[in-house]
Amino acid sequence: MEIKTLKIGKKKNKLTESIIHDLRASEDIGVNKCIQCGMCTSVCPASRHSDYDSREIAKRVLEEDESVICDDIIWNCFSCYSCHSVCPVGNSVAEIVQILRQKAIAQGKLEQVVIFLVFGESLMELGVGSIPLEYFNILIEIIGDEYLDIKINLDDIREELGLGKLTLPEDDTRDIKIILEKTGFTGRLEKLRAYKESSKNSKHKG
Ligand code: SF4
Ligand code: SF4
Repeated sequence: MEIKTLKIGKKKNKLTESIIHDLRASEDIGVNKCIQCGMCTSVCPASRHSDYDSREIAKRVLEEDESVICDDIIWNCFSCYSCHSVCPVGNSVAEIVQILRQKAIAQGKLEQVVIFLVFGESLMELGVGSIPLEYFNILIEIIGDEYLDIKINLDDIREELGLGKLTLPEDDTRDIKIILEKTGFTGRLEKLRAYKESSKNSKHKG
């Protein structure tokens, strides 16, 4: 008797397999175990307040729908991990979305991340995450002069509270810069810079 086997080739499950084996995915992520119960959607704030639907994201991935990578809807998730904690089969739409976004970026879809360029530049310069200078005026407008006072006197305030200075020693900043260069972060920033420049130019032409 001939036994027929279902061939699940690499190509057929390209999207799900690439997500399961991505470094960002939990070792036992249950992408293929999704039962479409909708628990993730029921706790997802992005699903409540927008057209986003976490169950739908899990479904599109299961169906190998690669169009989900370049769908702007994946940028509505804000990584709160509520879906991750309730999924009965260990799936994680939070992780899936992060991987899909990296795929989108690798495919040159940069309009959603260009806003973070200034944060990346600030990290390169200071070695720590901080609010970039260009947001100061907006924050002063929203919070008031209090914000400016805090910024100016931050080191003294931190000292009073028994915290160290926010600025890192020069050696540490230099080491962090090297790590960011070696891990490709700097290269990504350059791509974003080029993208920002070209969008500016095309706007002026338009
Ligand atoms: S990802 Fe988990 S919670 Fe969401 S529909 Fe699938 S099984 Fe349910
Ligand atoms: S991580 Fe994203 S998909 Fe999951 S619950 Fe939060 S907003 Fe929704």
